[in-house]
Amino acid sequence: MKKHKVTLIPGDGIGPEVSTAARRCIEATGVAIDWEVAHAGADVMEKMGTPLPDEVLESIRRNKVAIKGPITTPVGSGFRSVNVALRKELELYACLRPCKLYDGIKSLHPGVNLIIVRENTEDLYAGIEFEAGAKETTALLEKIKELNPKARMNPCPAISIKPISESATRKIVTFAFETALKNGRKKVTAVHKANIMKCTDGLFLRVAKDVAKQYEGRIQFEDRIVDNMCMQLVQRPNDYDVLVLPNLYGDIISDLCAGLIGGLGIAPGANIGDEAALFEATHGSAPKYKGLNKANPTAMILSGVLMLNHLGEKAAAERLEKAVAHILREGRYVTYDLKADRNDKTAVGTSQMADAIIKAMGQH
Ligand code: NAD
Repeated sequence: MKKHKVTLIPGDGIGPEVSTAARRCIEATGVAIDWEVAHAGADVMEKMGTPLPDEVLESIRRNKVAIKGPITTPVGSGFRSVNVALRKELELYACLRPCKLYDGIKSLHPGVNLIIVRENTEDLYAGIEFEAGAKETTALLEKIKELNPKARMNPCPAISIKPISESATRKIVTFAFETALKNGRKKVTAVHKANIMKCTDGLFLRVAKDVAKQYEGRIQFEDRIVDNMCMQLVQRPNDYDVLVLPNLYGDIISDLCAGLIGGLGIAPGANIGDEAALFEATHGSAPKYKGLNKANPTAMILSGVLMLNHLGEKAAAERLEKAVAHILREGRYVTYDLKADRNDKTAVGTSQMADAIIKAMGQH
């Protein structure tokens, strides 16, 4: 039997609990995995002076496949996002987030089954930022005034730069169409704000339309302005199929769609590049639940299903997904967030839900 080498980054907050649950479920499929555990995040920052040591990147480059628990990013100040750094350093240009409603989950709409494809390397997420009042910011403001005398800004602004390139857009939109073909989907919708951001989002839309021509007759194409898209998704999510978005809109719409399928505890994800793939839930580190054995492990376990598929272990992936679906449908051995009443005393903990999934795998 082939043994796969996989880098496992437990993360922080609820990360270690949900990644342990996912690891146990993946192991219970019988697929042989040699785990290389690598740590990143706030605790590592304290010990090593960096939240993302080179060993972590080297391990993923070597193994080409990784699964990661969420990692906290300090808000407003402190170190930059490890999650964003991993995506950029490893050129994981595509973020794939299937949003499928499983039976047994309470939702606004039946049958939601969307795929979100989010660009992962640029946009306002690129981290090119200038602090209010800093001398670099003053110099940048002078330059902007010189290049565009009509530009009006309030005094002393902070500035974030939004790069959107033709090459990254072409890559992500092509990835979205290929994902649609591979998964038997019918339509790709490009999401943008090209009416206002004519240069950046205008470019995204123009390139998306151009890529769409290659798929004419096979996959339909349409576009939506992001604000309208939010309303449409809340009212009629089943009118949509595969969505392709620049980084920031993709981040926001991912959480909206997670809300349509039972919440962040359910929504899995994958970051994919030409050289490596890193699997992680859509949710963050939910610090208030750290160490309480309360968080829902489903999103992380379903990220494991995506990973098994990526490793070519289709039968194991299907077995694990079926077991998760069974436990969700049954609704007994599930965490508090999946109970109608969040204070329901019959809710189980993170590890007990994983136990039930493992047991269900043996029975189905
Ligand atoms: P979050 O996703 O951690 O939490 C949002 C809400 O969803 C909270 O109410 C939380 O309790 C709930 N929730 C999240 N995951 C859950 C689960 N598995 N089971 C049950 N409930 C769950 O988002 P946040 O509070 O905005 O961010 C917390 C930290 O996580 C921040 O530092 C943020 O930067 C980081 N973050 C990391 C990632 C990542 O590692 N890829 C992604 C998003 C946020």
